[in-house]
Amino acid sequence: MSIEPKNFDDLSTRPAGISLHPNEGERLAAVRSYRILDTAEEQDLDEITALASAICGTPVSLVTFLDGKRQWFKSHHGTDVTETPQEFAFCAHAVASSAPITIISDLTKDDRFTENPLVHSDPHVVFYAGVPLVDRQGYGLGTLCVVDMQPRELNELQISTLKVLAKQVVDKLEARRKVFELEASNQKLYESENRFRGLVSQAPVAIAIYAGSDKVIEDVNQEMLDILGRGSEIIGMPLLKARPELEGHPYMDVINSVFAEGETHRGEGVKVPVLSNGQLREGYFDVTYKPILNDEGTVISVMVVAIEVTEKVLLSQREAELGEELMAANEELMAANEELIASQENLIAINHYLTESEGRFRDLIVQAPIAIAIYSKDDLIIEQANDTMLAIWGRDSSVIGKPLLQARPEIVGHPFVGYLSGILATGEEKSGQSIKAVLPRGDRFEERYFDATYKPIKDRKGAVTGVIVVAIDVTERYHTDQREAEFKEELAAMNEELTDANRELTLYQDNLLKVNDVLSESESRFKHLIMQAPVAIATLRGRELVVTKANDMILEIWGKDNSVVGKPLHIALPELQGQPFLQILDDVFTSGEAFVGSEAQVSLYHEGSLKDMFVNFVYKPITINGETTDIMVVAVDVTEQVNARKDVEEANIRFNIALDASGLGSTEVELSTGVMTSTKQFKKNYGRAEDEVFNYPDLFDSMLPEYRDEVKRRVADAIADNSVYQAEYEVVWPDGSIHWISAHGRPRYDANGKAIRMVGMTADITEQKLQERRKDDFLSIASHELKTPTTSLKAALQLLNLIKDKPTSPMHVRLIEQSNRSMDRMTTLIDDLLNVNSMKEGQLKLDKSLFTVSHMLNACCSHVRLAGKHELIFEGDADLQVIADEHRIDQVVINLVNNAVKYAPDSQDIYLIAERFGDVAKVSVRDTGLGIPKDKLPFLFDRYYRADHTGYTYSGLGLGLYICSEIIKRHGGEIGVDSEVGKGSTFWFTLPL
Ligand code: ADP
Repeated sequence: MSIEPKNFDDLSTRPAGISLHPNEGERLAAVRSYRILDTAEEQDLDEITALASAICGTPVSLVTFLDGKRQWFKSHHGTDVTETPQEFAFCAHAVASSAPITIISDLTKDDRFTENPLVHSDPHVVFYAGVPLVDRQGYGLGTLCVVDMQPRELNELQISTLKVLAKQVVDKLEARRKVFELEASNQKLYESENRFRGLVSQAPVAIAIYAGSDKVIEDVNQEMLDILGRGSEIIGMPLLKARPELEGHPYMDVINSVFAEGETHRGEGVKVPVLSNGQLREGYFDVTYKPILNDEGTVISVMVVAIEVTEKVLLSQREAELGEELMAANEELMAANEELIASQENLIAINHYLTESEGRFRDLIVQAPIAIAIYSKDDLIIEQANDTMLAIWGRDSSVIGKPLLQARPEIVGHPFVGYLSGILATGEEKSGQSIKAVLPRGDRFEERYFDATYKPIKDRKGAVTGVIVVAIDVTERYHTDQREAEFKEELAAMNEELTDANRELTLYQDNLLKVNDVLSESESRFKHLIMQAPVAIATLRGRELVVTKANDMILEIWGKDNSVVGKPLHIALPELQGQPFLQILDDVFTSGEAFVGSEAQVSLYHEGSLKDMFVNFVYKPITINGETTDIMVVAVDVTEQVNARKDVEEANIRFNIALDASGLGSTEVELSTGVMTSTKQFKKNYGRAEDEVFNYPDLFDSMLPEYRDEVKRRVADAIADNSVYQAEYEVVWPDGSIHWISAHGRPRYDANGKAIRMVGMTADITEQKLQERRKDDFLSIASHELKTPTTSLKAALQLLNLIKDKPTSPMHVRLIEQSNRSMDRMTTLIDDLLNVNSMKEGQLKLDKSLFTVSHMLNACCSHVRLAGKHELIFEGDADLQVIADEHRIDQVVINLVNNAVKYAPDSQDIYLIAERFGDVAKVSVRDTGLGIPKDKLPFLFDRYYRADHTGYTYSGLGLGLYICSEIIKRHGGEIGVDSEVGKGSTFWFTLPL
């Protein structure tokens, strides 16, 4: 049978005829899902069509599929045609009908097909029977059909067989689709498995997977094998067999518990024994143990991911050790510091004591003329009583040391005793005027009157330890006053009575006489007092300041003896000329007002030489009727006290200078408020001005965040165990720059052991850190530089060794030359290093002589002349002579020429120029090489400085020019460079003539 497709050329665009399914889209999707259209023929389907054809006795049998436009034949028994348009497909009718089989015995008699070209033209199909291929979802995909060119019928057996065969076709289709699906899912599984394996093997961390109760090593990547020091042969072994060293190790417990509980476990810095290069060692790892579960949620394996942190752990241990060493060193420093503080405290105590004693004495002075007694707090023991006081009491000095009431039983119950107790209790001063006291005089008692001051004596803490009583006998004044009062009354009476005026006058005169008597008596007592007073006292009479009285103490201060009495002060103490005291005394005389001087410096002759002293003094005018007649001088020598204080001040200044000089800032932090009292340098270390507020929170704010917790922790530790804390951290200054700070601090506690303050010291160690880095950089360059010639020398020597017994060859020569070059290079490097060292230690000694510069220049650098690549051209003054160390100057020129050769290799001519400028000789080395950028010029002569030349690398240590400049500086000359990029450089130096 042949069906010519040409008949249906235009059919592709036509509708596919009758409707096959209520939802044709779904049906078409179902057809495509079997992926059968346009596939090759398959033997088992061909066998089915052959069988159908044989059983039904038809020449043709087909397995067809309807794809919307055509019916396509997967199997076509009895015809070569592989497809026809769906419009003419009989099968479309079979699929559209819901019948299990469609049989049309004679198509020519059926209206539906009379127009069908397959019926009315070639191949003239007459008989058709088709069983629809309906899949599990109920979609009719196509048919299994038989076709004949003549009318026929099918019997029951043929019909049922055809149905069975159609079912076979559908089963095959279903099976085929299942295979596709499985293949797809397998592919996915395979890919994901592969991805996982890839992940494990390529992961940048160590991974191992242990499976099952034996922890069989299912997978392990190279990283993990490297850590374990094993090869991949351990894959497939139980863990304990592969790594017996883990038996009983906590690591196993962890793995077992992850298996048992199914929970991920993490460990930081876990110590694990590892085998590397056959050696068992301890390693530290951050490890994650992750259970891998199957669908039922059971743990089937455990994945271990380990990141080695051994170095980090060891480093932090080492850091901790280092910290302790530093702490110990610092502890010593702090101890020294404490001693300083202790001695400072002693000095302060002395100072305090002196101030207190001075206070006591000053009271004494101010109260003169006076009687003084001092009572101690307990039992009012008489600690001191001066002669005046003893005289008043009518006792002798044997009472000193006795309790008051025992020494003077007559005053029991006297208000005075009450005063004393009151002052001891309250600490308040008391004074009274014209206080009456009945005192024993020989075998009788006498009424006396006193102006008295009762003053508490307090110790440093303010507790009352005693009372000082200063009393002035004013009995006479009292009587005078009394009498004056009486007199006034009398006068008034007399006025009234206008009686005997004369009598009045006489009486008045009498009174005056008496007053006079009283006064002279008082004066003699006063004189007595002065002579015995425990302070230095003198009296000066008249404007000439004639010394009328001077007690032993003032004579001691003056450095004079009694012979000064009767002389004017400026003659008695001629050294006072030019000092302020004579003028002050004159002023006191004029004004009548007392002058108090404090810690005044005075220079007085003592045994022939001037002695500087400090005194506290009072110049008190003594006036009669408003006229100054005398001046009383009271003085206390406070030299020792002032010197002691000056010592303290000086020690403080020295301490502060030392702190400033070492860049150490100090501070005190009030822990309850965070308020800090800091030195200028301390604030400077944090980039703050002296007057800026800078407290504890500000300090932490300026610290880079990564240091804060650690520093806080160290401070807390130091407070907890009363130790010194030490920290180094970086801070940001307000201008944005970063600085390194080294800090030490120590807590201070109150009496209850509560930390109240923190005393701290800091230093800006940025420069030090920078130096360390520069030094490290330099060391790495230096070792690199030395390594290159060493390697090449070693290689040459090894080769020489190989051919040492062979006859001499050009190879020998080449190798020896290579060795020499390497050796020269090394010698130059080592010379540079040695030179720098000796210069650092100031050992550069000059051996000067007179020589002609041009001779030296013409003789030097023979290595460059011999190499022939460069020409050294001399210019300038051929007769110029200098006195200098010729060898060293030669070294400088060689260095400059070598640099010209190195950095200006294409500059063929190198000029050596000698000139004279006034009283200096100038030598220049000029090349026409690359030149040097302007911004680099200022640094060329610095130690270790190397300018980089884009695109080129030159070996060197950055020391040559530094050494040259040191040599020239030692000669008192100057060194410099003029250079322009692209044009060349002229390095020059001068030497004084
Ligand atoms: P070194 O040559 O070991 O680096 P030097 O102290 O001799 O050390 O020189 C310092 C730097 O000065 C060199 O690194 C180089 O960059 C620069 N320099 C010295 N001489 C010249 C020159 N003639 N031309 C250009 N650059 C030079």
